[in-house]
Amino acid sequence: MSVLLHRLNQKLEERREQQLYRKRLNLDSPQGAEIQMGDKTLLNFSSNDYLGLANHPALIARAKHSFEQFGFGAGASHLVCGHSDLHGELERRLAEFTARDRALCFSSGFAANLAVQQVLLAKGDAVFHDRLNHASLLDGAQLSGARLLRFSHNDVSHLQQRLNSTTAAGKLIAVDAVYSMDGDLAPLKRLADIAREDGALLLADDAHGFAVLGEHGAGSAEYWGLSQDELPILMGTLGKAMGSYGAFIAGSEALIEGLIQFARPYIYTTALPPSVAAASLAALDIVQGEPERRRKLMDLIAYFRARARDLGLPLMSSPTAIQPLLLGDAGLALDTANALRKHGIFLAAIRPPTVPQNSARLRITLTAAHERAHVDHLLNMLDQNVPDSVRQQ
Ligand SMILES: *Cc1c(COP(=O)(O)O)cnc(C)c1O
Repeated sequence: MSVLLHRLNQKLEERREQQLYRKRLNLDSPQGAEIQMGDKTLLNFSSNDYLGLANHPALIARAKHSFEQFGFGAGASHLVCGHSDLHGELERRLAEFTARDRALCFSSGFAANLAVQQVLLAKGDAVFHDRLNHASLLDGAQLSGARLLRFSHNDVSHLQQRLNSTTAAGKLIAVDAVYSMDGDLAPLKRLADIAREDGALLLADDAHGFAVLGEHGAGSAEYWGLSQDELPILMGTLGKAMGSYGAFIAGSEALIEGLIQFARPYIYTTALPPSVAAASLAALDIVQGEPERRRKLMDLIAYFRARARDLGLPLMSSPTAIQPLLLGDAGLALDTANALRKHGIFLAAIRPPTVPQNSARLRITLTAAHERAHVDHLLNMLDQNVPDSVRQQ
């Protein structure tokens, strides 16, 4: 056997032994509060469909309608002939909503994070990352050629130290606005101040904040009241709360033009199908027109946290729809998730390397599609299945 395949087999074996082996499950229904898996109906607390839009009739209708005008595939990259009116309209709407000069759509958040760091950074620059940043941000930094300096999670004095430790002229600070496995927020206001004082650029990945946070749902920039000058690079995704697919970067005219000219993950890839842009436009209408979805979600979050605290469940300090329970041991997290599955509840056991060693957790996500009765059932089942050893007094 080749050396490479032999090594791969060893890694697979190791992963099995560590109880970290991942298996995919087949969904047999649309995304929602209740999902079908095989012959089982499960109450779902693991999607990122925070506003319950992934199966909303308006998104489906708008996508269907677009088929008549645009067909299915985009058939080319944006710079050749794959860029449609719908893509353009979506970009204008996103820019307006986030109060930025312009926005540019990408085929995924992963691609956007690779693109923006590649375009801005070069050898000799320094890029500063929170330790819990999403894998796509990290990969983007590594591809950029800049020196990567990581700081402790949400520790601004550590960031300050790291900034002071370099003489690099070009500096970028990149963070998740909402941490995907912890649910807590980056202190964006303070980060914006630090960036300004230090002459660094600030990039926020708002995958879990866009469409959820802020009075009008425009995300973390709105929540923290940060203008384009204060937060010059705003990345958002359309596959989570927006219930659609893709991502965008919003910012200045120069930033967006720079990305169009130089971003390899933008230039050398096929444009999103127009129907996906159409569905995103329908989702934007709902996000902007139905604030009650966000209010319902916030009520459910408060309700869940209050009752979970009463039960001594190991909550983390998250104000968002991501409400992890910290169990520590990977085997325990997996066993607990499996026990819950037997009681009709689906949630993900998140284990290393997605999260640091000994911080395996149940990642519970709440959505506007849930009802209180769903949350009550979840809490009862957690009470029966989470061992006392990990409870808080
Ligand atoms: C999901 C996610 C991404 C990737 O977005 P996709 O559109 O799914 O590729 C990037 N950053 C964070 C923080 C995410 O949670």
